[in-house]
Amino acid sequence: MPSSPLPCIKCGTQFEDGHGGMSPDNVMPSVGTQFSSHGHYGSTAWDPMSDPSELIINICDPCLVFAADAGLVLKGTPQITDTVWTYRPWKLGD
Ligand SMILES: [Zn+2]
Repeated sequence: MPSSPLPCIKCGTQFEDGHGGMSPDNVMPSVGTQFSSHGHYGSTAWDPMSDPSELIINICDPCLVFAADAGLVLKGTPQITDTVWTYRPWKLGD
């Protein structure tokens, strides 16, 4: 049960406490971003099907920007309805 944010999944940087999470067990990072997944069809590691669980990871801002500069981050934008999204590479400031 973490009482401080999980470290960056890429470089291991420890975060200062940021904004409150959904519970004391999930503290949001400062100068980082938290991502969650409810599962992915096709994953052999995380596909809980009907189980309403989620996985949480944190990544520090420098690692996120480095990945974006390498073209490894997509930004999704809803089009007309929430069921149609378009994706394009994300860059800092976009
Ligand atoms: Zn990092």
